[in-house]
Amino acid sequence: MSAKLNSPQREAVRTLSGPLLVLAGAGTGKTRVVTHRIAELIRHGTPPERILAVTFTRKAAGEMLQRASALLRTKGKGRKQMRPQISTFHSQCVRILRRHIAKLGYPAKFSICDRGDQESEARAALREIRCPNESLRPGDLIAIIGGWKTRSIGPARAASVAETDKEHLAAAAYRRYQNNLKTKGVVDFDDLLLLVQQLFSENAAVRREEASRFDHVLIDEYQDTNQSQYQIVRGLAMGHRNLCVVGDDDQSIYGWRGAEVEHILRFEKDWPDAKVVRLEDNYRSTSAILNYANTLIAFNRVRHDKVLRAARAGGARPRVLQLPDENQEAEKVVADIQHLLSQPGVAARDFAILCRTNEQPRSFETELRKAKLPYILVGGMSFFDRKEVRDLLAYLKVIENPHDEVSLLRIINTPARGIGNSTVKSLVAAATSHGGHVWDFLSTAGEEGILAPAAAQSVKKFHTLIESIREIAPNCKLQDLASLVIEKANYRNELSRIYPDPNDRDARNASLEEVINAAANYQGQSKEPNLQGFLDEVALGGQDTPDEKENQLKSNAIALMTLHSAKGLEFPYVYMVGMEEGILPHKRSITADGDAIDEERRLCYVGVTRAQEQLTLSIALTRRKWGKTRDTVPSRFLFEMTGQAENAVHNRKRR
Ligand code: ATP
Ligand code: MG
Repeated sequence: MSAKLNSPQREAVRTLSGPLLVLAGAGTGKTRVVTHRIAELIRHGTPPERILAVTFTRKAAGEMLQRASALLRTKGKGRKQMRPQISTFHSQCVRILRRHIAKLGYPAKFSICDRGDQESEARAALREIRCPNESLRPGDLIAIIGGWKTRSIGPARAASVAETDKEHLAAAAYRRYQNNLKTKGVVDFDDLLLLVQQLFSENAAVRREEASRFDHVLIDEYQDTNQSQYQIVRGLAMGHRNLCVVGDDDQSIYGWRGAEVEHILRFEKDWPDAKVVRLEDNYRSTSAILNYANTLIAFNRVRHDKVLRAARAGGARPRVLQLPDENQEAEKVVADIQHLLSQPGVAARDFAILCRTNEQPRSFETELRKAKLPYILVGGMSFFDRKEVRDLLAYLKVIENPHDEVSLLRIINTPARGIGNSTVKSLVAAATSHGGHVWDFLSTAGEEGILAPAAAQSVKKFHTLIESIREIAPNCKLQDLASLVIEKANYRNELSRIYPDPNDRDARNASLEEVINAAANYQGQSKEPNLQGFLDEVALGGQDTPDEKENQLKSNAIALMTLHSAKGLEFPYVYMVGMEEGILPHKRSITADGDAIDEERRLCYVGVTRAQEQLTLSIALTRRKWGKTRDTVPSRFLFEMTGQAENAVHNRKRR
């Protein structure tokens, strides 16, 4: 056993069976316990593939796999080929649904829709219930449905929990939305969890079959499990009872996604023979940084009191930077990073700029580009949200499954090929009245009198185009398939048409190239590469790691990310920017009840505890909102952390 474990950590790692809870503060080595425990289980004879470890984000899963493989390389000689299953809840659920979704009345082949698809489905559902746009916007509908889904509320129950007018409308639209998705064989992200939960509760044999794949289940960041995830974990572990969960109630930051911190606090009740291990030494941050974190989190009213000691004494006191506006804030932070980077032994990957909102990164991106510093944007506007990327993926989805109507309708006239709205409407109407799929009418629409000859001709040509690619697809490497689609669909011409500016065009072409690179990457890395697998990977990747290179550690770049996506990670230098009322705490939380502020405080705590050597907090004294410059108010968390109001100014003068 590695000497690099303290005694409670060792105790947790050596507890090889039964329920085990590690409840401990940030940076105390919880994730280290999980990875070491995986290695320990394997050393004691558990076959790696019988171990399931679940993490919250793909980034965390990647990092855990890396850490575990490093341990296994030094410990388990000759076992390299077999790997424990380390994945996120969502990807594990995709695997389960691929095997069983038909039992829920879905077509066996399903696709995972992204945010854009979701919006068009929401719009369609609202149209079907004749809801005027001003009463409920598609974005609001998605948010309300999302809220229900994370609390495991299906369409049947939504009407009874709806309170406001908007919610009643949403409940009616939810039924349509869900029905439409189901008939099209499409699931959204929340469905992935919800459907597995449903499958497990309705079908004991399936639950047993899935549970029997593993002898051990380990869950990191357990404080952020929602109702469905909680039930799924129970379902997987109730047979063998070898369940190890680790987490920190102070870092629960997904309340808005239905996560219930009670799950971790209730663990001992659910599993009465559970062993509970507490870790108190923080190995990550200097004591100067940890003092800020401890002082801050103590302001939360409801929490489990925990000891969190710094194993690393001393350290530089966190700095507070105040700049006149958001552009100068970005300039200053980037200049600071550039200065530190000029010192020996400091690399771009040592830095993280943490933001609360999706709007904040823009000015930092601009400055980082100007300074020609490598950076990765994580958790913001996804690469996979770009139009050209979504178009290309929609083609691939249709090639995999022509009954994926969301994608089919997206590309049927992209690039424009003379298939107008009214043609599409007639096709959809025909499919609906015959209870079939649009795809099935494409080649015969003319003969069946659904379309006029000219339209029928264009539609038939499109059908032939897709069919011709589908024929070649099974014998084609994925990257070649993607190239073939671009070529056959004449997509580059489309780009030239939409983007006359060559710079724009190049950027768009570069995105297409990235998809091809991603396909080649997938083709090279997976055991049995196939189109379905690639599409699943992409759909899940777009969810929380838009970064196509995935691993910030490998690609030496500054991480520009949201606080939410920084969970579980650590960086020598951390910049928490926009430390202002309305940003952190977020404006929504200020008007809501006190619990919402507490959650923002936990989010701030997560940010502070990412820093190893130096923490820098920054504020812009003015910020532009809707084109107008407004004065800002420093975040209450700044005052709380520093102990006094003057501190922020004081720190700045000392620099
Ligand atoms: P978080 O709450 O942020 O998820 P965590 O509890 O999972 O944090 P880890 O990421 O596992 O903490 O560990 C934090 C840092 O401390 C890592 O760099 C890890 O390598 C180091 N560390 C953990 N345990 C020890 C130890 N016993 N000796 C030295 N370093 C340690
Ligand atoms: Mg961790």
